[in-house]
Amino acid sequence: MSDMSNLKEPGFRESVDLMFNRAVALMDLPPGLEEKIRVCNATYTVRFGVRLRGAIHTFTGYRSVHSEHMEPVKGGIRYASSVNQNEVEALAALMTYKCALVETPFGGSKGGLCIDPRDWDVHELEQITRRFAYELAKRDLIHPSQNVPAPDMGTGEREMAWIADQYKRMNTTDINSNACVTGKPPHAGGIAGRVEATGRGVQYALKEFFRHPEDIKMAGLSGSLEGKRIVVQGLGNVGYHAAKFLTEQDGSLITGIIERDGALVNEAGLDVEAVRRWIGAHGGVKGYADATFVENGITVLESDCDILIPAALEGVINLGNAARIQAPLIIEAANGPVTAGADEILRKKGTVIIPDMYANAGGVTVSYFEWVKNLSHIRFGRMQRRQEEARHELIVNELERLSRDKEFDWTLSPNFKEKYLRGADELELVRSGLDDTMRTAYQAMREVWHGRADVTDLRMAAYLVSIGRVASSYTAKGL
Ligand code: GLU
Repeated sequence: MSDMSNLKEPGFRESVDLMFNRAVALMDLPPGLEEKIRVCNATYTVRFGVRLRGAIHTFTGYRSVHSEHMEPVKGGIRYASSVNQNEVEALAALMTYKCALVETPFGGSKGGLCIDPRDWDVHELEQITRRFAYELAKRDLIHPSQNVPAPDMGTGEREMAWIADQYKRMNTTDINSNACVTGKPPHAGGIAGRVEATGRGVQYALKEFFRHPEDIKMAGLSGSLEGKRIVVQGLGNVGYHAAKFLTEQDGSLITGIIERDGALVNEAGLDVEAVRRWIGAHGGVKGYADATFVENGITVLESDCDILIPAALEGVINLGNAARIQAPLIIEAANGPVTAGADEILRKKGTVIIPDMYANAGGVTVSYFEWVKNLSHIRFGRMQRRQEEARHELIVNELERLSRDKEFDWTLSPNFKEKYLRGADELELVRSGLDDTMRTAYQAMREVWHGRADVTDLRMAAYLVSIGRVASSYTAKGL
């Protein structure tokens, strides 16, 4: 972002508002409703002290509630030293639109704590997290029916388990207490497939995009995901899983990986697992053998590739580099990686952008499944699985009996029996639900993208669908 000094780059919050304004200008909302939808309903700042290393440390955290047209409100909690009110509000707004787009029955919210988690050890982080959770829970900003946090940058299963436990200590008779937060570890009320969910959603989104030849053509591409050269920025939870699934299952090549300390480039394709292990052991990508190291890693965003996946921070594609971005297709795995100014430049160039509120909605979608599981107190598939298998067995036995009959000259395909007999477990059901969600939401966006002459990009289509749904909800039930 260094060479944008003489250009006016809007902040994240402003960027989201600019995109929202562009969308509502194309809508016919009742007077005043657009303002009601746009603004954040409430943002709480909490400051609390924790005694650590012999001194009292004061921490600042936020929880912003953007829209309560549906409750609970939903959205992650981010741990980063860059967290601030504007960022949390922009992210909360995106949660509202994201949930509406993928039809998870939530309003939008987001939380953040100004902290660099690397500065503290595990025990200290637990104390800080529990205290933050206490501050939020006592204000009903963590609550199974009102406000349900989840992981985001800098947090994961571990923090969610502490938050859930803290809530339970404060609400000992609440039978639904597990549903107060999602993204918990599987052995502590979580659901199979939540950790991979956002990256998996990115894969499903791309697979759906590549099912539509017209859309592929709009991006100036052809064929399938097989052999596509992909650059990923950020090999954190989201970037790693997206890259892993796209290489292992769809035959794509990861030709560039951008990390904090630089980037790796290899036109023949990088070994995602090996790079991830290298980062784990060395704290960065520098020194990894099977690639060219680029010190000024961010420039690799501008390299020649088929698909660019920004999967880290907001604002990485901005007025300073947008004109030089060569990828014809960008999928926003991070929230807000393209600023409003950059978005305009890229649209004019004809770059197709699969927008964040759709592309990274896999996380909240599987959070929704986890929340439902917690409220129903039963694992998905537990009642049906064996019964399904028994019925399948009946058919297979019958087919086998027929195939033994000399008059018919046929046999079952190899593996058919094994595949058909196995009832779906929780992970398969979660993936199926996620796949369905990503396909359905894409089709809703696509209908607007191709169906309206005044809508020329997927982001506007996404906003129109989601704002339309939020507006209908307000219109139907009142404000
Ligand atoms: N933090 C994630 C997001 O930005 C997940 C939110 C959730 O699961 O509630 O979508």
